[in-house]
Amino acid sequence: MSVLVVGTTALDSIRTPYQEKPKLLGGSASHAAVAASFFAPVSLVGVIGDDFPAPYVQLYQEHNIDLQGLERKPGRTFFWEGEYEVNMNRRRTNETVLGVIENWLPDLPEPLRRKPFVLLANCEPKLQLHILNQIHDPRFVVADTMDLWLNIARDDLLALLKKIDALILNDTEARQLTEEDNLPVAIRQIHELGPRYVIVKKGEHGAMLSGPQELFLAAAYPLTELVDPTGAGDSFIGGLTGYLAEQGGEIERHLRQAVVYGSAVASFCCQGFGLAATEKLDKVRIKERVAEIENFVRFELPERPETNPRHR
Ligand code: AMP
Repeated sequence: MSVLVVGTTALDSIRTPYQEKPKLLGGSASHAAVAASFFAPVSLVGVIGDDFPAPYVQLYQEHNIDLQGLERKPGRTFFWEGEYEVNMNRRRTNETVLGVIENWLPDLPEPLRRKPFVLLANCEPKLQLHILNQIHDPRFVVADTMDLWLNIARDDLLALLKKIDALILNDTEARQLTEEDNLPVAIRQIHELGPRYVIVKKGEHGAMLSGPQELFLAAAYPLTELVDPTGAGDSFIGGLTGYLAEQGGEIERHLRQAVVYGSAVASFCCQGFGLAATEKLDKVRIKERVAEIENFVRFELPERPETNPRHR
């Protein structure tokens, strides 16, 4: 089954304590679409300006991403400049230029209106709603958001929550949305706002999935070296949704595994600047990492015939 991804297609300038990279391919939709493309056919809905480099379009094409929903308009592409602090746990936005995405509310080509999986990557909730309203009877709709929209577009976001199956957000955003410090209580309150599934990302501490089948706690892959975490959240939602689409739509049965696949792809994303590490991935490497994560969380070890005498 295929996935429609909408969000920002951006130029990102990223500064970490160790390096600085200008105008990389970025944006929530770029990261999510490439991550999902390892599992399922993807259609990208986004807008780029006339400063968007041709090799970045090629990168989408190399991942077989359908670009009939990618519009080019005169003007600047969405631009974001972010800077990380020493331990990379905190980041600051230095500049955001909306450019051609400002007030952009496209009419989708007819074939895109029939996509079964809809991934509303982080962007203005009004745009997320506008896209979703054009899709005929989607099978699964998942949305991401950020603190900015909680601050300046809360009503649109609340309207969106009533129409989606799953919301993915980070722990501070979950607390901000509900004004509740206790995360399990905050999650319960988010369910009451609409989504059947709530997935809370906790960075290096993994993720929590909540749905009708109770809670699932997923570990993050313990990386020893972090190059650039930009796009990790988008890769997470992309890997998760792509995996679900590949499994053919039985959401409840596959969602726990999908969360682990999302975590695996997100961990690769952090190992390179922008999309550098993600774009080189393949399914085999993703599966190997999922197996590693599985080993990290297994607590019933297989019985050994002999124990090492030194450990008796
Ligand atoms: P993440 O690290 O997963 O939060 O996502 C980082 C990506 O989000 C970058 O590639 C940015 O281009 C993009 N981004 C930054 N600010 C915004 C915004 N206000 N709306 C949508 N996308 C954004």
